[in-house]
Amino acid sequence: MRVHRILRETAAEGPGLRYCVWVQGCSHHCPGCFAKDTWDSEKGRWIEIEDIKEDLRRAIQSAAGKRKDLEGLTLLGGEPFDQAQEAAQLAKEAKKHGLSVLTFTGYRLEELRKKGPAERKLLKRTDLLIDGPFEEEKKSFDRPLVGSSNQRFHFLTDRYKKEDIMSWKNSFEIRIDQDGRIWINGMGDLAGLRDYEKRRHSSNEISWD
Ligand code: SF4
Repeated sequence: MRVHRILRETAAEGPGLRYCVWVQGCSHHCPGCFAKDTWDSEKGRWIEIEDIKEDLRRAIQSAAGKRKDLEGLTLLGGEPFDQAQEAAQLAKEAKKHGLSVLTFTGYRLEELRKKGPAERKLLKRTDLLIDGPFEEEKKSFDRPLVGSSNQRFHFLTDRYKKEDIMSWKNSFEIRIDQDGRIWINGMGDLAGLRDYEKRRHSSNEISWD
């Protein structure tokens, strides 16, 4: 699977503590996208799906030994459905361990249902699908987890209730890696902070997911 970034534990990408995979490559190119460095499908790095599954199992064990169990897998990007086969395998592994699966997509559910078997498998293994491209003119952070008002929540299983997700609060996390790069993830109106950081750092020192 071509991957932009993996976070083994995050509390800012959906309910509970989650293993989060940003896939590399996105065919939508939404104007105003905050994650443009995930667009190019030649970038990122290739990681064998078996290696990600093994890492997920280790993350589950590691979280269980600490403060909180891992609740789920979040797939976002980039476009997870552009690598539907690999994403579906990962979702299967997550389900095997009782994790929930939250998948973000720039496609609409109706389009995905007409695609191939891999897309249908990923849909079948997704508990909550958040669909639709980011539309800059409809930018809104009134609802959790989404950046524009056209994006929709599809509760594909009974794992989550609408009221639980709608009462979830957006947040973001900031990490500094060993090379001094600043990584920010989560959801919310961060434009002001991004502009501030751009003035302080060259653009290749800060990454937004
Ligand atoms: S689908 Fe998401 S990652 Fe892809 S261009 Fe749109 S906002 Fe960016």
